[in-house]
Amino acid sequence: MSVVEAPAAGGPQLEQVRRLVTAIPGPRSLELAARRAQALPAGIVSGQPVFAAAAGGGVLVDVDGNSFIDFGSGIAVTSVGNSASRVVERAVEQLRQFTHTCFLVNPYEGYVEVCEALNRLTPGDHVKRTALFNSGAEAVENAVKYARAATGRPGVVVFDHAYHGRTLLTMAMTAKNNPYKKDFGPFTAEVHRAPMAYPFRAPGGRERAAEQAMAALRDLVDVQVGADQIACVVIEPIQGEGGFIVPPEGFLPAVAEFCRERGILFVADEVQTGFARTGDMFASEHEGLAPDLITTAKGLAGGLPLAAVTGRAEIMDAVHPGGIGGTYSGNPAACAAALGVIETIEAEGLVERARVIGDRFLARLTGIADGNPVIGDVRGRGAMIAVELVRPGTTEPDPAAVAQVIRYCQERGLLVLSAGTYGNVLRFLPPLVMPEHLLAEGLDILTEAFATL
Ligand SMILES: *Cc1c(COP(=O)(O)O)cnc(C)c1O
Repeated sequence: MSVVEAPAAGGPQLEQVRRLVTAIPGPRSLELAARRAQALPAGIVSGQPVFAAAAGGGVLVDVDGNSFIDFGSGIAVTSVGNSASRVVERAVEQLRQFTHTCFLVNPYEGYVEVCEALNRLTPGDHVKRTALFNSGAEAVENAVKYARAATGRPGVVVFDHAYHGRTLLTMAMTAKNNPYKKDFGPFTAEVHRAPMAYPFRAPGGRERAAEQAMAALRDLVDVQVGADQIACVVIEPIQGEGGFIVPPEGFLPAVAEFCRERGILFVADEVQTGFARTGDMFASEHEGLAPDLITTAKGLAGGLPLAAVTGRAEIMDAVHPGGIGGTYSGNPAACAAALGVIETIEAEGLVERARVIGDRFLARLTGIADGNPVIGDVRGRGAMIAVELVRPGTTEPDPAAVAQVIRYCQERGLLVLSAGTYGNVLRFLPPLVMPEHLLAEGLDILTEAFATL
């Protein structure tokens, strides 16, 4: 096979085709993998074996010139597409002006503008404030700081299958031991875990999932810990790494109401679900929730590191002056990129587009699931869709089938990610700007992949 040169630049101009010109991984990726093995520690692994050269629209081109359809968006980050024009233009312009002052030393307008935008866009019409950070984990950590300062209580309640990050506090909040927590303890105190309303795995069946989870939450909070010891309940409106677990309608409002009655703050971790991904600007909007605090990151700045905590003014103002910050928090180029992301979502109608993408996936996947008992569950909302694979006729997880589908897709030029506490979930998070023909082509490859199971 002939090797074509990798493109000089990515972004929306990149040719929107699936094209394989070498075996996967190609020779150049193999060469880099060998160097990587000598230079990086074993604990850092990559899901796909190909090194990136350029990406944009719905494709990622590797260093051997292979062009892949991207169903992952770098884990829900490049929702507006990689190197999206408005993101690049604004970030480059900012980089030419200045790269850093530290907002704690010399403030700049971009930071304020991002905070104003988040206060406007996040659900709830209460008066809000926003603080910026670098990563999702850092945002979650700081949300807990705000909640503790505002309530004077230490406790944090999280759920089974939760993922909140890899720092010390957020590791404690994350549910899954391997790979996130194994060997890294001891963890922080005052983190309490409640069962999640997980329709597919609810012990009493789908219909009772919400009711049972609420009863367990009530027991944990009122009986075991004591409501007056709990600062906040932190929940992902749709759980991400845990396997795109969509709680039954009514569960999230019930949790929010339960919190309100006890003076516990309701924190929505929208790091993965935010910024048009689920067919709403924020997943909390789906059931009319107005969380006390919202954490965001991934989709916020089109790939530049930026995260935020947005919340009720009286909660956010409870922390003493100087209590919150960080050298890089709210980096000016990342702020400029975020403004480009928000402009892109609004100008290109990406909230609506996420719904259309969701409809395409659900239609195809429910069709595949019909004749294929390996698919135990199809779920998700907007462009955040997953299938959970099981041994036929059971709910026993089948992570090997997930690995087989991913490999099949990879070898044919389609990038797909796994997820799930049991590693048996395939998750689909395409860039919201993916053209129709690539969406259809990707779904055709998936259909073939399932036919081989
Ligand atoms: C990814 C993620 C995080 C952690 O974000 P990082 O930027 O990786 O620290 C936190 N919460 C949720 C829901 C996530 O999906």
